[in-house]
Formats: sequence, C-alpha cells, structure tokens
Amino acid sequence: MKAQKQISVNSYRAAGFIGKYQTIVADTVIPYQYSVLWDRAEGAEKSHVAQNFINAAKALRGEDIVDGFYGMVFQDSDAYKWLEAAAYSLANKPDADLESRADELIDLIAAAQDTDGYLNTAFTIKDREKRWTNLLEGHELYCSGHMIEAACAYYEATGKRKLLDVAQKNAECIYARFVTEGNEGVPGHPEIELALMKLYRLTGNRRFLELSERFIDERGTDPGFYAREAEKRDWTVWNSNPWDNDYRQSGKPVREQSEATGHAVRAVYLYTGMADLAAETDDRELLEACRRLWDNIVRKRMYITGGIGSTVIGEAFTVDYDLPPDTAYSETCAAIGLMFFAGRMLENEINGEYADVMELAFYNTVLAGMQLDGKRFFYVNPLEVDLGISGKSATHTHALPSRPGWYACACCPPNVARLIGSIGKYAYSESGDTAYCHLYAAGTVGFSNGLSLECVTG
Ligand SMILES: [Zn+2]
Repeated sequence: MKAQKQISVNSYRAAGFIGKYQTIVADTVIPYQYSVLWDRAEGAEKSHVAQNFINAAKALRGEDIVDGFYGMVFQDSDAYKWLEAAAYSLANKPDADLESRADELIDLIAAAQDTDGYLNTAFTIKDREKRWTNLLEGHELYCSGHMIEAACAYYEATGKRKLLDVAQKNAECIYARFVTEGNEGVPGHPEIELALMKLYRLTGNRRFLELSERFIDERGTDPGFYAREAEKRDWTVWNSNPWDNDYRQSGKPVREQSEATGHAVRAVYLYTGMADLAAETDDRELLEACRRLWDNIVRKRMYITGGIGSTVIGEAFTVDYDLPPDTAYSETCAAIGLMFFAGRMLENEINGEYADVMELAFYNTVLAGMQLDGKRFFYVNPLEVDLGISGKSATHTHALPSRPGWYACACCPPNVARLIGSIGKYAYSESGDTAYCHLYAAGTVGFSNGLSLECVTG
C-alpha cells in the first residue's frame, strides 16, 4: 500500500503568500547565513564553519593548522543546512552567483573527506582516534545525515554530482562500520535515518535503505549501550547521562514505543525516518508504531500552535497534557520536524489530520519563528509572554519576548529556510490519477502525467 508520493521541488512554482516567503529566504536568509559561515557577518558571533572544512583538509594532508577546530561538535551541519536551503532556492529560481558559492563550499567539503569516506571536521582536525567512540554525543551520524540531505537536494536542483558522490562514499563508510563489520550502536541524535531514505530513493542503492533500517530497528534494543560506550572513553562533550534513554528515544525498541519522549527534535526526526521506512517497505508493524506516536503527540503533547516540547530542560516532551503557555519550549525546529513526520505519514495513508497538523505547525510556529523581513528568529515559541518575567526570571530565560538575531550556532533559521524552499513537497502530492493538495500553497504545481494545477490565495 503506497498511498502517494511527494512531487519534486521543481514541480512547484510558488506565488502569493508562499512566494513572498521564498523570496525573503532567497534574498535575505541565504545570503546572510552564507556570510555567517565565512565569518563575514557584521556583529554575528564567530562561526568558523568554512574554515573548519579548510582546516580538516589540511589535517588530512598533514599540514600545520593555526586556528584548529572551532564551534559545537555538530558545527558542520550549518554548512549542510545552508547548502540544502540553497539547493531548493536554486530549484525555485536559478542564480549563478549562489550556485558558484555553493560549488565552492562543496569543493571544501569534498577536500575534507578522508580516503575511507569519513567526513566530520571536529574529529578530523583534533580527534581522529576518537571517531565513533561517542555516538551518544559526537553527532557524527547527525552531521552525515544533514550532508546526505544537502547532497540529494543539490543534485536534484543542479544535476551536479560532486556532493552526491561525497555523500554516497560517506554512507558506504558508515555501512561498512555498522553493517559489514557489525559494530554496535545507534545515533544519539536521529537524523541520518530519514536522510538515508532520501539517498536510497535517489540512487536506488539498497544498502542505504538497509542502513536506515539497521539504525531504526536496533534503537532501544540494548538500553545499556550508551553506558558501556561511556565507560570505554575518558572524554565527554556535554557530560550527558548515558542512561537517560528516554531523552534519545532508545528506552525500548521503536516498534514497541507509544509515547513521544525526550528531546522533541530528535523524536520527530526519528519518527519521520520510521514513517518513511514503513512507506517504502510496506511495514505495517512500524506504521502502527508511527500511528501510536503520532496520536500521542497530537492528542496529548502538542500546543494549539502545532508546537511541541513543553520544557526547556532537554528541549523536551514531558507528560500528557503538560502544556504550559509561558514556559513552553516549542522549538521552531521541532515544529518543522513535526511537519516532516506528517508529510511521511501522508505517504503511508491519506488522512486529512496529517495535513491539518502540518498546516497548524507551518503557519503558527514555523513561519512565526521568522520575522517578516527574514532577519530575526524565534528558536523558542512560547504562547504567552509576561513582560518583566519572560526572558528574565530563571524559569523563563529561554522564553524571549522578542526574536533574537542569528546565533553562531544556528539550528532554527537554516531549518526554516530549507522548509520554506521545499514547501511544495509538503503541500502537494500524487497517487495514480489523483492529485492531493495538503496545504493551500499559492502557485502552479505540475504532476507527473503532465497536468498542472494553479492555486490562488488571497
Ligand atoms: Zn532549532
């Protein structure tokens, strides 16, 4: 039962309300983030992302590096999210300058890839011997996931293979480690699962589907894994509790899970990969688990804005019906992840509820996360602001009363950019001789039988 498939980004030409947002992303968000990656944005914190790739390539060649690695352990993902947003923007509107900037960054990324396919600047620059020793916090698989997503999008937008070749080589390196060699462990931060499904669909290489399946099916089967891993090493990134499996959705096998727990972004990225795999392999048991998790979120753990994650502590879900309006975390990225999950559930079964929740999250949290000029962003989206308390009291420091600018480590803004750029994939789909409109996204959409549909909004 394959209910429907997404249209490609190229098949949707936005106009009206959505067109306005795509223009803001193309004209303001993407150029600004590019300047951040290169540490050229005035007033922004140091990012060092591009320099990290340059330095990793030097490290591979055995050359001296002056300024080492800088940033969060997942700093690379900022480059990948920017590239993915740039790819969608290029698909929507060709731009030779943007494409050459993207090509230049891809050259740096390719040069930072080790001969075995490994690619992560944090470990390559300073800790090569520590690779794969901290799946709990190291985020190597998370970064690879974002790179793979960027590679698929860039190939689809431009037909250029360079980053796709890097991504396949990297995925093969991961396949060798976790499937061929049989090493244990699953990513502390899910993301690669959904990315591998994209790579599988694009290349037809079944190993990528198998690898995604391996990460999904092993998750939670061995709750002691992260603790054993932690005992074997003498270093940590954030001193995370390796036994807090609920935080990373690894307390029990995913097929037995029925409550959305832990870090909200990790949760919905995982469920997205699960729903994707279920649709591709017609796995009813996995789909049933996705339905339970979906129901738990939308009936008991979601704000009326489509926001998820009730607490700043761990940026996480808490318990059923605990939805405080003023201390909500409701991260923009989590609402985006919920849209991903809804979109993949629609691939499994046509049900208006998935589209309704997608719409709710898109208009009330994702778009609300970005200021109208595209220059400031909410990472946290409380439903209530108490002036004098919000942003000030120790219990409310995260709930800022106005949108902050760009952080050096920016998770939400580039996520908004890639979602808006690819909104056609979520708004429209098709199955056999049926076209579906899930969101009233103004513009023209083309279907695979040659028919096109125009949606006009006011
Ligand atoms: Zn975020």
